[in-house]
Amino acid sequence: MQFKDIEGQSVLANRLTEIIDAGRVSHAQMFLGPTASGSLALAVAYAQYLNCEHRQHYPEGSELRADSCGHCPSCLKYEQLMHTDLHFVFPSATTASVTSKPCSDDFQEEFREFMNEHRQRGTEDEWYSCLGIENKQGMIRERDADNIVKTLGLKAYEGGYKVLIVWMAERMNLDAANKLLKTLEEPTDHTLILLVAESRDRMLQTILSRVQQLVVPDLGGQLPAERQEAFARMFVSWMRLLFKLNMQPLSAWVDQTATLGRETQKMFLLYAESALRACFLQTAAGIRLEHDLQFGDEKFDASFPAMITPNNIEQMTQALNNALYAIERNANAKITFMQLSFTMSKLIKRR
Ligand SMILES: [Zn+2]
Repeated sequence: MQFKDIEGQSVLANRLTEIIDAGRVSHAQMFLGPTASGSLALAVAYAQYLNCEHRQHYPEGSELRADSCGHCPSCLKYEQLMHTDLHFVFPSATTASVTSKPCSDDFQEEFREFMNEHRQRGTEDEWYSCLGIENKQGMIRERDADNIVKTLGLKAYEGGYKVLIVWMAERMNLDAANKLLKTLEEPTDHTLILLVAESRDRMLQTILSRVQQLVVPDLGGQLPAERQEAFARMFVSWMRLLFKLNMQPLSAWVDQTATLGRETQKMFLLYAESALRACFLQTAAGIRLEHDLQFGDEKFDASFPAMITPNNIEQMTQALNNALYAIERNANAKITFMQLSFTMSKLIKRR
């Protein structure tokens, strides 16, 4: 899977290739988002890019900054999902042919077919229907975790990174999660664990705290132009307030934001994340702001992007993700946006 084949996720794809090119690969990452948004496809494309022998970089202004080549020996095996150092773990259950103690190893071929058939965007229900077990709830069990530990303990066959992708990671039972936790705590060299999950709420906090989290935006939620403009205005005034940290207008901004619905608040946080990312790309790589990310304020468009640098982009993204998580969990919106504002205010001055 190459990034170019994943529709609508170029912002995140650029962020991922940038992480790899900068040599900041975290040994455990979580892709959070609906499967239909391409979270699994992004995880595969990320691993393929990491192992590609001829990474491609595109000229300034291209939608994608980089991608895997698609034809080196490693890419060819990745395209077939047949690379010896690429492993998949996913929920399973007993079927007509596997009648006891099911585990991912029993269904590797079926899973590859499922991935190909649905262009790596199939849902959990579609997976169970491939297995002919529509009425069952699949699980990732201790035996799966034992295989993970065993697989990751072996040396990579082909010298690159050994990659383990756990799809629907929230389906891990407690035994499996506890086993995986040990592996996350004691990473081995050149090993990458990518957890793909739809729901943060169903994951153990101990696992969440040990992985780098990436929120994959839901494509169903593409912003209409009007909303985009409203968010841009909100973002510009917020960033200006953060600079001055003038309490009265800032708390008025927070009060106003707290009156928006939770879905709108979440969309605004995602908007802010992609806006900051675009600013960072503009400064770091000289890529111009994409049209839909311009803020419609000449002065701001000209001066703001330079504030976003390697010294603050990751922490800012993390702070926005934490707020998103809090809003999802019905935390008090005023408190969440106020705390977020204080954190962002510190970070923005750290350029
Ligand atoms: Zn390649």
